Amino acid sequence: MPFINGKVMLKHARENGYGVGAFSAHNAETILGILEASEEEQAPIMIQIGQKVIQTLGMESMKTLIDIFSKDFTIPIAIHLDHSRDFTQTMKAIQMGFQSVMFDGSGYSFEENTKTTSAVVEIANSLGIGSEGEIGKIGGTEDDITVDEKDALITSTEEAVAFVEATNVDYLAVSIGTAHGIYKQTPDLRFERLNEISNAVKRPIVLHGGSDVPDDQVKRAITLGVAKINVDTELRQAFTRGVQEVFHENPDEFVLANSLGNGRIRVKEKVQEKIRVFGSNGKAKDLLSNKRL
Ligand SMILES: [Zn+2]
Repeated sequence: MPFINGKVMLKHARENGYGVGAFSAHNAETILGILEASEEEQAPIMIQIGQKVIQTLGMESMKTLIDIFSKDFTIPIAIHLDHSRDFTQTMKAIQMGFQSVMFDGSGYSFEENTKTTSAVVEIANSLGIGSEGEIGKIGGTEDDITVDEKDALITSTEEAVAFVEATNVDYLAVSIGTAHGIYKQTPDLRFERLNEISNAVKRPIVLHGGSDVPDDQVKRAITLGVAKINVDTELRQAFTRGVQEVFHENPDEFVLANSLGNGRIRVKEKVQEKIRVFGSNGKAKDLLSNKRL
């Protein structure tokens, strides 16, 4: 269970032209499905704890569960706090030993976002924890916060550069045409803007709303500097359908290990599929033997 600083992990990914899957976990079965898939593929991964599961199961319980399950695995893992909009919560995650935290100040003014993100970055950095910030608004609904897709702003290169210079954040989430949740129509990523931002800020870019973005677009985005791809919706769909399959066959199946277990298998399959698209399969060993760790 080598836990690795998210910054080191994403730097390796960017330099070696692959993307790290940041998979959202929601319960014990989804954690295990994610871990099993990554181990089989020998891929470094991030496991994300998001706001929804923090509201229901709690941040510490999820972190503890991941820690315990991870003991049986050998791949590099970074536990990541997703979309924290609260400084105190971000500090709690740092205190609990997360390897990566995101403070999402995209709902605040540029000044406020910059100010709080800088404080997070300074503390996280001094403790060897990776930090993610967001500039520009990503469309769709995530964790009860909705950004009208029409109003979802494409991040400008100028604001991305100004934000990185002011905060020194390790990796940057930008809005380049993806949205959270299910797409009503196939997204068209703004590659030119991505390329421009990536070259200007010279650090890993994070793609939110990675579910259902066509594989060829994701692969192209990785060649342009995207090093972390968040996947949540597609995993929740896989898990739910896996459970439904069991009940469809037998509505009186009351052994939870069977229904939830099938959800876990479906999550594992989906994560393996994503890892291969992101090109992170087989990268665990090289990352672990990296001298700069
Ligand atoms: Zn997101």
